[in-house]
Amino acid sequence: MTDLTALSVSEALAGMKNKEFSAVELTQAHLDAMDKARHLNAYIVETPEIALKQAAESDKRYAAGTELPLDGIPTGIKDLFCTEGVQTTAGSKILEGFIPTYESTVTSKLFADGAVMLGKTNLDEFAMGSSNTTSYYGNVVNPWKANDSDADLVPGGSSGGSAAAVAANIAMLTTGTDTGGSIRQPAAFCGVAGIRPTYGRCSRWGVVAFASSLDQAGAFGRSVEDCAHMLKSMSGYDPKDSTSAKLEVPDFPALIDQGVKGLKVGIPKEYRLDETPAEINAMWEQGIEWLRSEGAEIVDISLPHTKYALPAYYIIAPAEASSNLARYDGVRYGLRVDGQDLQETYRKTRAEGFGDEVKRRIMVGAYVLSAGYYDAYYLQAQKVRRLIQDDFKKAYEQVDVILTPATPSSAFAIGENEDDPIKMYLNDVFTVTVNMAGLPGMSVPAGLDSRGLPLGLQVIGRPFDEASILRTCRFLERASAFKAKPQFLMNKAA
Ligand code: GLN
Repeated sequence: MTDLTALSVSEALAGMKNKEFSAVELTQAHLDAMDKARHLNAYIVETPEIALKQAAESDKRYAAGTELPLDGIPTGIKDLFCTEGVQTTAGSKILEGFIPTYESTVTSKLFADGAVMLGKTNLDEFAMGSSNTTSYYGNVVNPWKANDSDADLVPGGSSGGSAAAVAANIAMLTTGTDTGGSIRQPAAFCGVAGIRPTYGRCSRWGVVAFASSLDQAGAFGRSVEDCAHMLKSMSGYDPKDSTSAKLEVPDFPALIDQGVKGLKVGIPKEYRLDETPAEINAMWEQGIEWLRSEGAEIVDISLPHTKYALPAYYIIAPAEASSNLARYDGVRYGLRVDGQDLQETYRKTRAEGFGDEVKRRIMVGAYVLSAGYYDAYYLQAQKVRRLIQDDFKKAYEQVDVILTPATPSSAFAIGENEDDPIKMYLNDVFTVTVNMAGLPGMSVPAGLDSRGLPLGLQVIGRPFDEASILRTCRFLERASAFKAKPQFLMNKAA
């Protein structure tokens, strides 16, 4: 019998349409698989009742021939998206027990297109991290293992639960958010595809805010096509988000198969870092070669301000976070620890409710925004941000897309890099420029390193040109013929 959890979105949609299996059966197969994957800790909350109810409604639509674009597709929702009636924690103790009375725009759109919610996926606290080890609800375990060690590896972060769930076949699709790399880095670590669309493509309404000028929702899937399906359903103008773009949403799945012949692909010299392992540079060279031999034009480009992106990000993101997180005061949301007076209640609540990484960011953010330091740090960082945007603008006069590695390493062991925040921040070195410039970017699995762990390539596009990214990634996915599966799934089959 076919394993229903291993299907692609297109195969699953066709199977339900042709009555080979029902949406309820497909959902049940995923719920059963989730049961056996608890040790990965990919979900904070599972919602089987909601899933089965939604699936039954999908089945009615299939029977009536009125099915929707994602009807019956089992989906995990990053626990940063508010879901009506379902606990939403942002991975933090401070929001434990918070049950929103409203639905985020992105999840509303997914459900309006028939997606079935399996549960809320685990993440770094308030989406701050690169390893999914800052969640109050425990670490997420990467379903992949290195061939030379039995150590549990991180799935990447912050959308680690979402990436691990798709890799372990306990969700067909998952949502993520990407403020500095939180979709592309975990996608690379877990051997799945992940796209962060252009800032403004998906509404941020109802998504717990980390750094509002950088946050953007996006999609994880096991293939580029699967991501294209999800992105189409998630995207679109929303009057409730003033930064949401009033643009038509392209039919992404229909645009992925145009090939790369004649496409101009930029290779930025500043992404050749001395510290990057040779295997990752070799993977990048391989990607360039695949594109060249298919008739794409490879163009050497320069993005001169790249090296300032990471330091500027770690000023701007904490600054916005310190402001956004001021609302968690024990009065309006979640946790409350009473003190003698209001001030003490604030202090106790925040001291107990936030974890170390979140506190570190709040302190940095408050510092760089304080009188006397604002000009020296925050304002300078904003200027750097403009220079980074200008670099890309110039590059896109010459090229259509840009190809880089997705991450400077493959997945590392849980606990590694923990005592060194700067080392942890370096995970975002290839991804963060995209957020600073508000651009779309995608990571696609391209091969394995010598330890048997997945490596990703990143494709960056012009604003609102996700279609060219998807098309390039689709080609790369075919060229690499990446078929490897995580040990977790191979053990399951054995
Ligand atoms: N790792 C980055 C950070 O910790 C990015 C997080 C994200 O994209 N949400 O800020």
